[in-house]
Amino acid sequence: MRKYVIMGVQGSGKGTHAGLLEADLNLVHIGVGDILRWNVQHHTKVGAQVRRIMAAGSLVDDDLIEGIVQDRLAQHDWNFGFIIDGFPRNPRQAEFFLESYDIDGVIHLDLPDSEVRRRVMARRLCSVCGVDYSLIDNSPKVDGKCDACGGELLIREDDTEEALNVRLREYHAKTNPVLDIFRRKEYVITVDSRPPKPQVQQAIRAKLGLPAYAPERQAAAS
Ligand code: AMP
Repeated sequence: MRKYVIMGVQGSGKGTHAGLLEADLNLVHIGVGDILRWNVQHHTKVGAQVRRIMAAGSLVDDDLIEGIVQDRLAQHDWNFGFIIDGFPRNPRQAEFFLESYDIDGVIHLDLPDSEVRRRVMARRLCSVCGVDYSLIDNSPKVDGKCDACGGELLIREDDTEEALNVRLREYHAKTNPVLDIFRRKEYVITVDSRPPKPQVQQAIRAKLGLPAYAPERQAAAS
């Protein structure tokens, strides 16, 4: 059983690298932002509560987020473990998390703010199935259409200059202290997220002592 947290600024590749670990190691990838976006898209009560906060780039209320994480983990569909992305995002959430779960490691993807801007502005999201694209290195085959389901690709509502500025400020002010909490427990491995994806994935695995990254194995399995 492996239990990891993946942290990093917006656009640092948390979803991508968590997805690669999920596919290869049978981990369940829990993306808190994905769960919130699903709720917004499906017009649920939670969706109505969080939509405007998310669009502005601010953080959603802690009680609500902790409830979502608790419910998701209580499904216990993670026999081989989980990798949680987008949580915890402030010291209170970190304390809550550490009280309830043991974790094996925190993957910290490090990316300078200038590179964050370039990546976030190139990001596109399928409006139907939620798959992520990047116009820098992972463009769809047909412009504006999802390769997987043909859905329309959109810019995330919070991928604007203004919202990004808020999110970067929030990250540096609130999420950096979370890393300090985890560092005190010696959980954190830091990986430079600027190199190409396979190199970053390999560096994560080497630091965590996991099996090497073999893209051909993943392609065969999918
Ligand atoms: P993400 O997809 O991780 O970038 O999250 C998108 C947005 O969802 C964030 O900008 C917040 O508004 C909200 N959100 C996601 N995770 C959390 C969290 N742990 N605490 C508070 N708000 C969150």
